[in-house]
Amino acid sequence: MPKFLTNTTPKPKYDVVLIGGGIMSVTLATLLHELEPSLDLAIFERLGRFAMESSAAWNNAGTGHSAFCELNYTPEKEDGSIDISKAENIAEQFEISKQFWSYLLTKNYITDPKSFINSCPHMSLVFGEKDAEFLRKRREKMTQSPLFEGMQFSTDHAQLQEWIPLIMQKRKENEVLAATKMDLGTDVNFGTLTRKLGRFLAEDSQVEVFLYHEAKDLDLMKDGTWRLEVKDRVNHHKQEVSADFVFIGAGGYALPLLDSSDIPESEGYGGFPVSGEWLVSFKEELVAKHQAKVYTQATVDAPPMSVPHLDLRIIDGKKALLFGPFAGFSTKFLKNGSYLDLPESINFKNIRSLFGAWWHNLPLTQYLIRQVAMNKDQRMQHLREFVKDAKEEDWELKIAGQRVQIIKKDDDLGGKLEFGTEVVVNKNGTIASLLGASPGASTAVFAMTQVLEKCFPEKMNGEWREKLLEIIPTYGQKLGENPELTKKTRNYTKEKLELEY
Ligand SMILES: Cc1cc2nc3c(=O)[nH]c(=O)nc-3n(C[C@H](O)[C@H](O)[C@H](O)COP(=O)(O)OP(=O)(O)OC[C@H]3O[C@@H](n4cnc5c(N)ncnc54)[C@H](O)[C@@H]3O)c2cc1C
Repeated sequence: MPKFLTNTTPKPKYDVVLIGGGIMSVTLATLLHELEPSLDLAIFERLGRFAMESSAAWNNAGTGHSAFCELNYTPEKEDGSIDISKAENIAEQFEISKQFWSYLLTKNYITDPKSFINSCPHMSLVFGEKDAEFLRKRREKMTQSPLFEGMQFSTDHAQLQEWIPLIMQKRKENEVLAATKMDLGTDVNFGTLTRKLGRFLAEDSQVEVFLYHEAKDLDLMKDGTWRLEVKDRVNHHKQEVSADFVFIGAGGYALPLLDSSDIPESEGYGGFPVSGEWLVSFKEELVAKHQAKVYTQATVDAPPMSVPHLDLRIIDGKKALLFGPFAGFSTKFLKNGSYLDLPESINFKNIRSLFGAWWHNLPLTQYLIRQVAMNKDQRMQHLREFVKDAKEEDWELKIAGQRVQIIKKDDDLGGKLEFGTEVVVNKNGTIASLLGASPGASTAVFAMTQVLEKCFPEKMNGEWREKLLEIIPTYGQKLGENPELTKKTRNYTKEKLELEY
């Protein structure tokens, strides 16, 4: 019987406890296990399997975010120039993820890269003269960086027909469209990757994995350790477990757990849940005509994570198309959560932030109401902006994962809605949590090295350094400033991850 199924009783004390079995926790657990194998680690997951929430394949879009196609990462400044600094950071961070996954394959901790990562061109598509000019300028600026070398641009219908035949169907000859294309793009099945890593940790390492175990409450003890109340959801049994270091990788439930820790750094945070839906097609004839991820601009009132895109997905060896996301509203913080999650998260420490964020984001509320009210027919109308003759019977609705957008205390506005991810750490570096959902799983390895830098700064600069450089050879260097290193690193990960571009 697999070892993790026989793990039913946690020990009273661990060096490190990780809450949640998503991509973040398994990444951090693997890093810690590699950097210091003698550490006593435990992972608690409330469900019966890893990666059942945001990290599951169909709960996210599977874009290996490298800033090749996401137009919201390259804003146009008032003087008309284009700021690519955010895009460069995200591209750098994805290269870190690819190096980490390559290391895991080299060590044979995981196998079969095609089961979780596949080449898939990333494209940006815009409509009309003005946006076409923006895209041309953007490509000119981006290709000055080695990170975006090879980005192609075209407004030529014949070329676009070759790149995106499904989208070019039934277009008028005089319609202005422009696109960029990066062949280096990827589609990632973060669910499979998480489970592969989870299996490695549970079976082949000393890490103890407890499924159906939910962390309920966190208290700081006088000796500086953390005491967790852990509930066995099968045997309805509660137990106390203590740890020197705790990572809260609980996705949407990170916020209430962080709040229960009572650390001053958690004060004023609130969460705003946004659910989502995709239109999905498995029709081979359509899939054959669309072999890329194609991102466009968000409408004026839409939040950045609602940028519409039509994507090729490769899940369990099967190709499909995904269009969306359509935003929705639910008071749950996790798909498998409770409708009481939002009301129960409101307290006197964050009510001002929540109200402030809501008051200053009324257009977003209206946008969400409009999105929620849409029926399938109306969603199909949106899809037809991409695929002119899309037929309702070829597409089905799928529920995406639940995001909890962070609301942060703001002196002027009361509260501010944030769309990025944030690592929250206490003063002593004994507890860390990841809040927010974007750019998300693609940058998990970078985010987890941030946790390690904040919580174990001496080890990261001392005894762990050599191993860290074996795991992530370019750690601490900027690829964007070094064309040779970019090329070398990409050749290495291309070979290990069996990418085909
Ligand atoms: C609609 C959508 C589209 C997205 N698209 C992309 C994309 O294209 N590319 C990308 O890189 N990222 C994308 N993301 C973001 C990405 O999915 C997330 O950033 C990532 O999966 C978060 O991983 P996680 O481990 O933090 O959380 P999760 O995967 O949600 O895992 C958290 C785990 O913690 C468990 N848990 C919760 N509470 C407890 C508790 N008290 N005790 C024990 N266990 C607990 C949960 O059951 C769950 O298994 C998208 C997200 C959404 C919602």
